[in-house]
Amino acid sequence: MPMTPAPTRRTSPQAEIRQDPSAVSEGRLLISDLLGIVEQYLDPEEVKNVYQAYLFGAEVHEGQVRRSGEAYIFHPLSVAQILADMRLDSRSIMAALLHDVIEDTTTAKDELSSQFGKDVAQLVDGVSKIDQIEFDSREHAEAENFRKMLLAMAKDIRVILIKLADRLHNMRTLGALKTEKRKRIAAQTLDIFAPIANRLGMRTWTLELEDLSFCHLYPKRYDTIRKELKKRRGNHRAIIEKIIVKFESELAEAGLEGSVEGREKNIYSVYRKMRSRRVPMSEMRDIFAIRIIVRTVDDCYRVLGVIHNTYKPVPGKFKDYIAIPKANGYQSLHTLLFGTFGQSIEVQVRTTEMHRTAETGVASHWRYKSGTDKHRAPIPAHHWLVDLLDTQKQAGNPSEFLEHLKIDLYPDEVYVFTPHGDIKKLPKGSSALDFAYAVHSDVGNHCIGARINNEPVPLHHTVVNGDHVEVLTARSAIPTPLWLNYVVTAKARAAIRDFLKHQQEGDAGKLGRQLLERALKSVGLKTRLRTDQKIQLLKHIGLEDWNELLVDIGMGRRLPMVVARQLLPGASGTDAARAEPLPIRGVEGMSVSYARCCRPIPGDAIVGLFSRGRGIVIHRPICPNVREQSKRPDAWIGVEWSDDVKTTFEADIRLEVINRRGVFATLASVIAEEDSNINHVLVTARDDRNSAIRFTIEVGDRKHLARIIRRLRARRSVIRISRSRG
Ligand code: MN
Repeated sequence: MPMTPAPTRRTSPQAEIRQDPSAVSEGRLLISDLLGIVEQYLDPEEVKNVYQAYLFGAEVHEGQVRRSGEAYIFHPLSVAQILADMRLDSRSIMAALLHDVIEDTTTAKDELSSQFGKDVAQLVDGVSKIDQIEFDSREHAEAENFRKMLLAMAKDIRVILIKLADRLHNMRTLGALKTEKRKRIAAQTLDIFAPIANRLGMRTWTLELEDLSFCHLYPKRYDTIRKELKKRRGNHRAIIEKIIVKFESELAEAGLEGSVEGREKNIYSVYRKMRSRRVPMSEMRDIFAIRIIVRTVDDCYRVLGVIHNTYKPVPGKFKDYIAIPKANGYQSLHTLLFGTFGQSIEVQVRTTEMHRTAETGVASHWRYKSGTDKHRAPIPAHHWLVDLLDTQKQAGNPSEFLEHLKIDLYPDEVYVFTPHGDIKKLPKGSSALDFAYAVHSDVGNHCIGARINNEPVPLHHTVVNGDHVEVLTARSAIPTPLWLNYVVTAKARAAIRDFLKHQQEGDAGKLGRQLLERALKSVGLKTRLRTDQKIQLLKHIGLEDWNELLVDIGMGRRLPMVVARQLLPGASGTDAARAEPLPIRGVEGMSVSYARCCRPIPGDAIVGLFSRGRGIVIHRPICPNVREQSKRPDAWIGVEWSDDVKTTFEADIRLEVINRRGVFATLASVIAEEDSNINHVLVTARDDRNSAIRFTIEVGDRKHLARIIRRLRARRSVIRISRSRG
């Protein structure tokens, strides 16, 4: 007999926790129980693999004991069982059995890889990486960042599923820990893990995680609400039975097949409602909740018609989540009826398939299916989301969805840790120096380097998700104009500029001379300028005093490279272009062009790159061509868009579409409706079903482009759409 309660049973976690742990451990889950479950849906070969993973885990955890006194292996076994109940694939089950071996034993990832394959090893490694992060829910504001980071770190969504199952089992067995630790873990679960389960549409786990957390955080409140709910249930049992019987006979009469059941409320959601509406439990109105599960979508709407005939619906309470699913993929019809007993009846109608998705969310995509499906490649979190997006697209407006899942659809952010375990959010491509300035401008101004995950790195080192960053400073260190090349954040740029501005003018002049000499040398000119060259230069720039120019350079107001280049033959001086404000700030007098590889548009992060014969070419930092040049950062210059750019720019977007008559014309008209021109099109047939299209279109800025992409994405024929990176 499996000891762990079935996922749907959530009546009283506290009662379970209060039981004597040694009594609980009798009749603990055994490997034979787990095998009994997986045998129902896995091949004998795969069942054998699961058993092998168990033997391995049991051996390396040998002698380890949980706080409750039981052998450690019972924990991974229980986690595996939670996943097996959801019919997850054999590799997830194996990884669950092994999920703590990298963290808690001497086993290395390579060993797992050679024993159980790369897939399993990677899953275990992914779970271990998440375990290494120290979550701290002391600051609620940070919780969203933690959640995003966690999702961003897991390339395979199964890592998250295993982690959630792990947390679920830990929460079920929290009773053995000291009060303070229990409360800390419960708060963290409520802040981080329950919302993730919810975001992934896993209602069953969400509710259980919430109730368990609530019960440990506020045992008294939990108990009061639980008792009150129980009392009311007792009082109303007869009425609910009557409603169910009535619905059943109505359905039968209409020739509809389906099951009707009463729904129980989750204790934490009652508490949440009491808090948000500021009403005591005694004033909470009773609502009878009924769920009807039918076979087809058509039946859902027919059932709705039948029950609206029986009871009067409350106006404005009908919600069609079948036509417009919720952000996490949830689908159902909701309606509220006036009951004949003075209380309302809340009804949900859905199909069996929708019900499964509502209960297990993303895991339902991973359910084992027989046949060729069973060795499917892992679904990256991202793909699952794209999947959802498709559902959403067929149904209606995806804007709510987009809003909730920014992290996955706009992977332009990275999340890194401070030495105190706080999280900083930075734009992708940020350097250690950006991080230093994000901590404090004083830290940035004296930064000499950083240690990332304990390895020393230079200022311009790019940070990635999950990095632990420690800034190294020295009192003597100060910013130089060169630093402007190392940063992408506006905050760092402004701080560096500010510092340079406040430097002593004398120092600035000296520094300016050095920088100009270096720049002259690098463009192949003599470092000592003739008087006539100086006069020519001052005239170009519109200054009168040579020293003023050097101070300007030293203080970072002018880029030495830009100044030096103006002495080269063919450099454009004061010309007609001056009349109009330039889109790029700080490069007056230079020839500026925009890279055709990555096509930057206003609003993008940008860098300037000196290119022989072309002057400054503006790229996006994510452009592969820029990355190639990263070894000679002196060729980079920091540039910024002017505030008010009037011209239009070209952007490339790639689409994958279903070949349908008129698909091209539809897409073109969407682009035209959004006030954009198509300058170039390239269509490549993938096969007889799909084609790839590349549009080069004219846009004003990022917002404009985003609007166009959003509208195109909403078309049924569009399978995938993205902006080209270069
Ligand atoms: Mn664990």
